[in-house]
Amino acid sequence: MQFYKDKKVLALAGGVGGARLANGLAQHLAADELTIVVNTGDDFDYWGLMICPDLDTVTYTLAGINNPKTGWGLAGETHNCLQQIKNFDLPSWFQLGDKDLATHISRSFLLKEGFTLTEATAVMAEKLGIRHTVLPMYDLPYRTIAVTETDDLDFQTYFVKERWQPVLKAIRWEYEGDKKINPALQQALDEADLIIFCPSNPFVSIDPILSFPAVLDAVQAKPSAAVSPIIGGEAVKGPAAKMFPELTGKPASALSVAAYYQERGLLNAFIMDEQDEDQRTAVEALGLKVHTADSLMRATAGQARLAKIVLEFCRDLV
Ligand code: GDP
Ligand code: CA
Repeated sequence: MQFYKDKKVLALAGGVGGARLANGLAQHLAADELTIVVNTGDDFDYWGLMICPDLDTVTYTLAGINNPKTGWGLAGETHNCLQQIKNFDLPSWFQLGDKDLATHISRSFLLKEGFTLTEATAVMAEKLGIRHTVLPMYDLPYRTIAVTETDDLDFQTYFVKERWQPVLKAIRWEYEGDKKINPALQQALDEADLIIFCPSNPFVSIDPILSFPAVLDAVQAKPSAAVSPIIGGEAVKGPAAKMFPELTGKPASALSVAAYYQERGLLNAFIMDEQDEDQRTAVEALGLKVHTADSLMRATAGQARLAKIVLEFCRDLV
């Protein structure tokens, strides 16, 4: 199953888009050839439990137990607990399924027992049969805050409760601890021969990971490639397209994604949808090697197909 001989790939991922490409990469790379670092800026406390939406989306997808329709949550889910909890007037704006709850209870339990989030994630991923390493970017709370025209909202309030309608002025982070890099992530960065930015939201999925100086330094120093989450000016899902004009003053496009990363000198290569072929020259002018492909990942076969294209295109970078 070796794609590049004795080379290691580090994938940066958020939730749905991240999970899809990560799962594709996992079809082609052995356990010691791929590490996936996941955004934890979306994590929050709910009903006294620790919820990590992006970590769960990635692990459920890698384990093949995700709900393919929503992209998040588990397949065959029921919501009996949520219905019952409404009787007690607890908040019910965040949908937690019954089986999904087992994840949040187990993780919260392990954290209370003294496991770090990295350790708890590893234990649970192994139980789900996942072979590749899935790393939370940081072990302590590191919370994305949406600075809107009227309020500063915690991420899930902005994203789920307010359905990402408030206009954003900025994104910032609030964190506990000294922001010292997760040692497991530092090791993965040191060992990586290629860093792949999954087609995740640049502002609220990838930027939280890049907000650690050691990550930024490594990405600038090592070969790296990004897959565009914007296809034909639109996001496949979620607020990425709405965020481009709000946060950068530029229209949502594959070119804007490439420029947003390349302003910080982060990339060597860029993979975008064949619909965006007309932007090739402009993206190449940013100093990037460009490849276009059908970049919509429909089901597991589509994930493996795009991942193979990405790995083949990046072969001469490693
Ligand atoms: P979230 O945490 O669930 O919002 O997940 P991510 O940040 O990882 O992914 C959201 C982004 O994934 C959106 O901007 C989508 O446009 C993108 N996305 C989702 N599915 C696909 C796909 O099949 N192909 C591409 N190119 N992008 C996708
Ligand atoms: Ca997310």
